[in-house]
Amino acid sequence: MLNTITTRPTRPELVADWEHLFKVFIRPEDDDCKAVLIKYMERILFGLHDFQKTYVGITEAKSLKDLSEAFINTIISENPEKKLADVITCLIKEIAPHAVNVASPYFVGHMTSAIPFFMVHLKTIVAALNQNVVKLETSKVLSVIEKQVIAKIHRLIYNKDQKFYDENVQNADTTLGTFVEGGTTANLTALWVARNKRFAPKNGFSGIEAEGLAAAYKAYGIDRCVVLVSRLGHYSLRKSAGVLGIGNRNVIPIELDERNKVDLGGLKKAINEFKSDSRTCVLAVVGIAGATETGTVDPLEDLADICREHKIHFHVDAAWGGPTLFSQQYKHLLKGIDRADSVTIDGHKQFYMPMSCGMLYLSDPASMDAIAYYANYVNRMGSVDLGIKTLAGSREANSLILDCALKIMGKKGYSLLINHGIETAAAFADEIRKRDTFELVSVPELNILTYRICPADIREKLAASTNENDRRRINETLNNINRDLQRIQREAGNSFVSRTTLRLCRHPEEDIVVLRCVIMNPMTTLDILREILDEQETIFKSRLADML
Ligand SMILES: *Cc1c(COP(=O)(O)O)cnc(C)c1O
Repeated sequence: MLNTITTRPTRPELVADWEHLFKVFIRPEDDDCKAVLIKYMERILFGLHDFQKTYVGITEAKSLKDLSEAFINTIISENPEKKLADVITCLIKEIAPHAVNVASPYFVGHMTSAIPFFMVHLKTIVAALNQNVVKLETSKVLSVIEKQVIAKIHRLIYNKDQKFYDENVQNADTTLGTFVEGGTTANLTALWVARNKRFAPKNGFSGIEAEGLAAAYKAYGIDRCVVLVSRLGHYSLRKSAGVLGIGNRNVIPIELDERNKVDLGGLKKAINEFKSDSRTCVLAVVGIAGATETGTVDPLEDLADICREHKIHFHVDAAWGGPTLFSQQYKHLLKGIDRADSVTIDGHKQFYMPMSCGMLYLSDPASMDAIAYYANYVNRMGSVDLGIKTLAGSREANSLILDCALKIMGKKGYSLLINHGIETAAAFADEIRKRDTFELVSVPELNILTYRICPADIREKLAASTNENDRRRINETLNNINRDLQRIQREAGNSFVSRTTLRLCRHPEEDIVVLRCVIMNPMTTLDILREILDEQETIFKSRLADML
C-alpha cells in the first residue's frame, strides 16, 4: 500500500487504449474531428479572454512559495487523469490567474506585451499544419515562403536592387537570412558565421569548424579573438563567445558617451591596441540598434566606416530596434544598418509575434555557406532544405506568421505602432522632467527610458558635491530606495516597471539603480504612465522618503 498517496481512483471513462488514442489525433478525413477542434478552441479563447479582463494588474496575489508548494508531485500517473475539457477548465481557472498579464497597458517593464489577436490564430495554424522546415520534404511551400519573407525583411534592411532580390529570393544556393529561436541564437549564429569566415580553410588547414579553435589559432598565428561592443551589449553576446570557444571574457565592453552610445574614441583606441599586438584578432564589432536597457542606438554609420577600414565583421544587434525601419519619421535613427555584414531582429519583440521568433540577416548571400552542414537523409547538397544553414534542426514555420502579419498590418500598421512607442516615450520623459521627485536618467531615443527617484534637492546636492565619498553614499541610498520602490510597486500588482543597474558616463565609477520602462503596448497612454508615476510618488513619500 506504499503507493496510496499517488494512485487516485481513475474514472471509468479515463483509459488509455487504442480506441481513445485514435480519437485525440487529428484525422482530416473525419468531420467529427473538426467539430471537436472548434469546440475546444472556443473554450480556450473565451476562457483566456475572461482571464485578461479579470486580472488587470500583473498577477493575482499568491506568493511564488505557495505556488511552488502546489507543484511538487513528480509522479506521472499510470492512467489518464483528466479529460481535455477538464484540463482546459483547470488551465483557465487555476493556471492562467497566476500567469503574468503581459497584455495589460500597465505592464511597461519588459519587451513583452499585448499582441494582435490574429497572432493567436496564425500560431494555431502553424501548429495545426505542423510543418518542419528543416527540409523540403516536410514543409514544401512553407520553405518557399520562408525564403520570400526573409527577402522582404532583407530588403527593408539592405534595400539592394531589384536584380539582387530576383536572383536570390528563391535561389537554392544562397541565403539572405534565417529564422531562429530568438535574438540570442541570432547573435550566436552571426558570430558563428564571422568566426568560420575569419578562420576559413587554407593551405593544409581545413577550417575552424572542422579542426577546432586550437588548430585555427595556430594556423593563423594568433592566440586570442575579441569581440567589441558597448557596455550596453546584450549578454547573449557573451554566451555566444562562450559557446564558440572564443571565451566570454573576450567580449570587450567599450565605454559609453554621454548619450549612452558606444564611445567612438574608446572603440578606435581598443582596436588600435589589439591590432598592435599581432597575436590578437578583432573578430567582430557589434553595434546596438536599440539597447535592451536604454533603447539607444549606436552610431552605425561610423561603426561601418571603422569596420571597413580595419576589415572587421560588422554585426548589428537590432533585436529590439529593427522594426523602426518601418517608420518614415524615425528610420533615420538606424542609418548605416544597411552596411552591416549581419543583423539580428527579434520577431517576438516589435513585430509583435507570439513567443518565440528570432531572425538573422546577412548582407552577403554566400556568408552562411560558412556554417553549412549536410546529412544524407535530409539536407542534401544542392537542395533548398533550410536546415542546411541553421543551428536548429527541426523547427516550426514561423515565417508564415510573419508573412501573414506583414500582409495584415502593412508597413503603415507597424509604423503606427513604432511612432506611438517613440512619441509616448518622449512625452513620458517630459512628464518625468516636470516632476521634482524624479530624475530622467537615460533620454529615450526609441521607446525605452530609464529614470529614478531622486528629489530635486538631492540632485542639487549631488551636482554641487566635490567629495566622491559623499556622492557615493547618496547614490547608494538612492539605489536602495529605487530597488525597494520597484519591488513594492510590483507586489501591489497594479502596474509593472522593471529595474536595472547602469554605469553611465556621468557616474563612471558608480552603479546606478534605475527604473526602466518599455513602451510597446499601443494601449499604453501618457495618462496611464502618469498614474504609474503618481503611484511611485505615493510609495516613495509614504514609505521610503525617510531613508534620505
Ligand atoms: C532581447 C534582446 C536580445 C536577446 O533576444 P532573445 O530573443 O531574448 O534571445 C539580444 N539583443 C538585444 C538588443 C535584445 O534586446
